[in-house]
Amino acid sequence: MSIQLFMPTFRIDECLEQIRECLEKGWTGLGFKTVEFEEKWKEYTGLKNAHFLNSATVGLSLAFKILKMQNSWDDEAEVITTPLTFVSTNHAILYEGLKPVFADVDEFLCLDPKDVEAKITAKTKAILFVGIGGNTGRYLEIVELCKKYNLALVLDAAHMAGTRLNGKVPGSEADAVVYSFQAVKNLPTADSGMICFKEKDNDELCRKLTWLGINKDTYARSNDKGAYKWKYDVEYVGYKYHGNSIMAGIGLVQLKYLDQDNAYRKQLAKWYDDGFRGNTHIKPVVMAPGCDSSRHLYVIEVAKRDELLLALNESEIYPGVHYRDNTEYRMYEYAKGTCPISHSISERIISLPMHLRMQKADVDRVVEHVIRFTSM
Ligand SMILES: *Cc1c(COP(=O)(O)O)cnc(C)c1O
Repeated sequence: MSIQLFMPTFRIDECLEQIRECLEKGWTGLGFKTVEFEEKWKEYTGLKNAHFLNSATVGLSLAFKILKMQNSWDDEAEVITTPLTFVSTNHAILYEGLKPVFADVDEFLCLDPKDVEAKITAKTKAILFVGIGGNTGRYLEIVELCKKYNLALVLDAAHMAGTRLNGKVPGSEADAVVYSFQAVKNLPTADSGMICFKEKDNDELCRKLTWLGINKDTYARSNDKGAYKWKYDVEYVGYKYHGNSIMAGIGLVQLKYLDQDNAYRKQLAKWYDDGFRGNTHIKPVVMAPGCDSSRHLYVIEVAKRDELLLALNESEIYPGVHYRDNTEYRMYEYAKGTCPISHSISERIISLPMHLRMQKADVDRVVEHVIRFTSM
């Protein structure tokens, strides 16, 4: 039997029940379940605002669009970001005509505050922090840097659904927090995301921008008694970025089980940790102090990463790499060589299979193969 890197788990009957409700009501779009999911997400995270989207990628893009609009940043504006992330993170900066400036990562695979500070210039307007694998890294030091230099902070929390830092969901410090509910993330729907702005004004602007710049949602309008529902105003050249009730319905079910599911991921991580303990060839990436991680990933550092990958594939074990140093991509090669630690770490890391359908025996099998290969 093969062991895949990721595999989403759905409580199928409960999800179908949510979808049935939408279909029976004849309401599958914006409003209804999307509003309910936003409310539940605010309750769960303690964040003040939440707007449901069709992906995290559009969320990151909107975060920069709105911060740029509200703060009148020019096109020279720089955003300090990590090269060790999914490319969606850094594209979002480029979408808005801003410049990604790469800073190096630390042992947690997250932005290293020292290198970030060294890369701040007069043009720097924001820092984009990614909680890789659910790790919080030195997030709180990044928060302090943002205060010290008066910079905006965006948290790419695509891996962080369920992560706590010192007992609470991190993010209230950031100007915007963006979650992904894409199919292989910790709260899988099929594709969707959430953006949580600190400021109410930004949340309101975002709601207009995710629906073509229209200033009222369909649900509210159809509840109006008046005959002028079509007479809305259009204030901006907005987009079609909002989420829908089918995805939100699935999200509501997943949210109910998020902590339970993450607890099982932590168990899987513990089995891996136990299996690798004392092995000098294998270095698991550790979680930062105070971080109760969502454990989206289980990452180890090894010497012959590529060979290990191939060897595992031969045994029908399919790991992944999170991520390739983004400055190796043609799009970002202008920054090649600016983040040597990220570059070398990115050649040694491998993400081992991590999903809810795995049993202890599966972890044992992966551990055994990794140990056998790395001690050769
Ligand atoms: C998955 C992911 C995204 C994008 O999420 P989508 O919902 O697929 O758009 C952004 N950043 C990181 C770090 C991711 O892993």
